Amino acid sequence: MSNLLTVENQKAQQELQPRVRRTLDYLQIALYKDVNPLDWEDWRWQLKHRIRSREELAQVIKLSPEEEEGLKKASGRLSMAITPYWSTLMDPDDPACPIRRQAVPVGTEFTVAPHEMTDPCAEDRDSPAPHLVHRYPDRVLLLATDHCAMYCRHCTRRRLVGEHAHQDNSSNRFDAAIDYIKSNRKVRDVLISGGDPLIMEDEEIENLLQKIRAIPHVEFLRIGTRAPVTLPQRITEKLANTLKKYSPVWVSIHFNHPKEITKRCKIACEMLADAGIPLGSQTVLLKGINDRPYIMRKLMQELLQIRVRPYYIYQCDPVRGTQHFRTPVAVGINIMEKLRGHTSGYAVPTYVIDGPGGGGKIPVGPNYILSQAKGKYVLRNYKGKIYTYLE
Ligand SMILES: *Cc1c(COP(=O)(O)O)cnc(C)c1O
Ligand code: SF4
Repeated sequence: MSNLLTVENQKAQQELQPRVRRTLDYLQIALYKDVNPLDWEDWRWQLKHRIRSREELAQVIKLSPEEEEGLKKASGRLSMAITPYWSTLMDPDDPACPIRRQAVPVGTEFTVAPHEMTDPCAEDRDSPAPHLVHRYPDRVLLLATDHCAMYCRHCTRRRLVGEHAHQDNSSNRFDAAIDYIKSNRKVRDVLISGGDPLIMEDEEIENLLQKIRAIPHVEFLRIGTRAPVTLPQRITEKLANTLKKYSPVWVSIHFNHPKEITKRCKIACEMLADAGIPLGSQTVLLKGINDRPYIMRKLMQELLQIRVRPYYIYQCDPVRGTQHFRTPVAVGINIMEKLRGHTSGYAVPTYVIDGPGGGGKIPVGPNYILSQAKGKYVLRNYKGKIYTYLE
């Protein structure tokens, strides 16, 4: 592999940490073989060189008719952007590749099924200030940016996210949200999400964390991101140290398939975990991607190995144009049945449905209580054996 490198690129490679150097598989892909390893490892280079057009995409994968149709129709808010890193994980010959399906639009995205909505969780309705959603008594959701490294085709916030030009980038754009949190002493938990907040510059992230940390009644801060998965180069020692400074900051990472846990992704998660940042995962149940119990079990077990604690599996929200991703609820319940008891309890997240219309996350799962009478519970265990608990 290295004998294909120019002298300059060989030198650049030597400047990288050995553990990072071992992940440079991209050099085997024709489109990227001449890229300087230092550029490849630069998250801004990755963002700048995202695949945005059919022509670029056709150089890394063999497009299927469904994808051709999707690309023809995709525009505006449903924009496509694929980091070079993510593109190297896509199977060029298989349109069913789970990595590819999450990133490449298909024709069915443009048909709206019955019950599908633009804002299924009614976040816009529960917004007391710009960029803020307040649904639960003690915590708020702050939508810090509309941008992401990659745009997931199943995104619940696709009404907001994308590369459209009118994003407000002013440094005071969170003032009203911060004021709202300040004046609500019940808010003890702030979840910073988006878009992907880690797409912002270090200084911007620090600025926001600082402002929120300065509010005495905010105990708990968390960040929802997909950067370690779609743009692992974004997780630098500097960023990890910034997050550490405002501890406790927890980080929830969106993972959907075991193929996403690459050597490079592991390094990003290690950096965060080594900085003492607790990591959780969020997974969207997606048809043909992770709807088989053995795939979901593998994902959860591999997450534990990189010190990420599985937190939620979401039923795919009824957002417009996502019917090809949605499974029956029974599929999710069956997955939970095959996890609990069959593997480490730490590998078992909570399966939730976000109540359409703004109900919040509602846990659903197998029923283990067979009957409940005065002082007596009849229960079944994971093997179906029956036990009676007397109170
Ligand atoms: C998911 C969510 C939260 C956080 O919920 P947890 O169950 O505490 O993780 C807060 N606000 C909104 C609007 C949410 O959608
Ligand atoms: S990273 Fe999250 S917010 Fe961004 S497109 Fe994917 S699901 Fe949507």
